[in-house]
Amino acid sequence: MTRHVAAESRSPVPPSPEVLDEVFDLLESLWHRERDSRRPDSFAEPLDGLVLTVLSQNTNDVNRDRAFRALKRRFPAWQAVADAPMEEVADAIRPAGIANNKTRSILAILRIVHQDFGAYSLRELAAWNPDRARTYLEELPGVGPKTAACVLLFDLGMAAFPADTHVSRLCRRLGWVPEKMPPGEIQTVMEQVLPQDRYMGAHLNLIEHGRHVCRARAPLCGTCIVKVHCAFGRKLA
Ligand code: SF4
Repeated sequence: MTRHVAAESRSPVPPSPEVLDEVFDLLESLWHRERDSRRPDSFAEPLDGLVLTVLSQNTNDVNRDRAFRALKRRFPAWQAVADAPMEEVADAIRPAGIANNKTRSILAILRIVHQDFGAYSLRELAAWNPDRARTYLEELPGVGPKTAACVLLFDLGMAAFPADTHVSRLCRRLGWVPEKMPPGEIQTVMEQVLPQDRYMGAHLNLIEHGRHVCRARAPLCGTCIVKVHCAFGRKLA
């Protein structure tokens, strides 16, 4: 058996390749998202994916999707969103919460994208170097490291490992990163140690595990398939 990555008395350290393989093989045996790692809402137009991901901030997938569908129903083209009064856009995306802030970000993004590319499209980014594409996305209003990584990974087919709330919680509890490390830094650590061909499936498997087993409150450590590798879980044993 592979050596545990972090004993309780040690500071968190990034996991070794062997531990990563074992943990992600176990998670794959449970959730199968590497085998079927296509995001159902992956878009041919990356700008759609970017707006969807902005809507997903601080809410769940159901509310995010309701808001995105309502926005598309009311304004079938991005030009129509850009031309609409702010209150009407905010009204359409209200199911996603913090509607005024998200509207401000979306309208500013549309303005900048149109200015930069002459169209409401981010397809050109697919031909860019991934680092340049990431920097461009992260400089857009309301777009942080996780949102940029989601667009790179799901809509542009580029290597990125988004660290959302579930991924961050799992990485901290497993003992791979310090307890207080922010998600943007967790993302950087994981992108350095995880093979790129596992990014998408590993990300999706961690989300499944975080939703159903390693929940924020009352994690099911007793029956957890990766407990032997987990600093938090072993403390409870
Ligand atoms: S053992 Fe507990 S804390 Fe560790 S990954 Fe499993 S559910 Fe989460």
